Amino acid sequence: MQTRPDLPLGLPPSVGAAGSIWGRYRNAKSDLALLLAIVPLRRALTGYAVTVLVCLTIATMMLPPLVIVACLGGMMLAFPPVEYGLHRYVLHNMRSFLRSRVSARFWVRVHYGHHRDPARADMVLANPLTLTPVFLAFAIPFVALFGPGAAFLALAGILIPFAFIYEVVHYAAHVPARFRTRYFQRRRRIHMLHHHHSDRTNFGISTSLVDRVVGTFAPRAADAARSATVYSLGYDAEVAAAWPWVGLEHARAMAGRAERPSNPVVFGGGGQSETNGRLGA
Ligand SMILES: [Zn+2]
Ligand SMILES: [Zn+2]
Repeated sequence: MQTRPDLPLGLPPSVGAAGSIWGRYRNAKSDLALLLAIVPLRRALTGYAVTVLVCLTIATMMLPPLVIVACLGGMMLAFPPVEYGLHRYVLHNMRSFLRSRVSARFWVRVHYGHHRDPARADMVLANPLTLTPVFLAFAIPFVALFGPGAAFLALAGILIPFAFIYEVVHYAAHVPARFRTRYFQRRRRIHMLHHHHSDRTNFGISTSLVDRVVGTFAPRAADAARSATVYSLGYDAEVAAAWPWVGLEHARAMAGRAERPSNPVVFGGGGQSETNGRLGA
């Protein structure tokens, strides 16, 4: 009788499958513990969790449970295209940020600075202000349909996938740690291609679903031509000569951060000892 090489002799396949699921659960738990040991990420997630809890509490006092469940479910399903659209059409749309000092500063903070130096952990966490248009896009129809309580529902519905999926996966893609879950390993590989090979592919952070549908998925370097704008996002010397605000704001931002180390990943609360030497990819 032949047995699968990955199963102990005589162990039924169902037990092997359960073992595999248990192994994946343990890997995921371990990776999340590793991420939550990173002080800035833990602080941000704590703030988001409190905001989500407050919003959901208010929403449950003002709206029927069915509306809450339906809206939250719909917003979870809408998140992959929202994530993709924001990244590709807003954050990579250099021209819309050039005209004023305020918009240039905003772009430097939300994406330009991150592409200029993807290794800087202090530029990885997103600015929640980027979610304002998404919030309005959901809040306005929700409030028109269900009343003022739906604004709190819209905010919670955005923050849940943004904070607990997008921010976690994006941070995991950048932090110098060795992750056990294949999901985190794969998302990092794909996101690093977006940062170091082509800024015209792989816009999805938590999933490549939309990239696959619209043809911007490039899982290997060989799948896309190397982009000359991968670090500048098109803000070259010629553009800077005509529109200097971005360059000035980036220089100002970097001067303000010059005192800090280039990759200030700060672990606390005994987290480092729990990582079993998995820091430093
Ligand atoms: Zn990008
Ligand atoms: Zn990134």
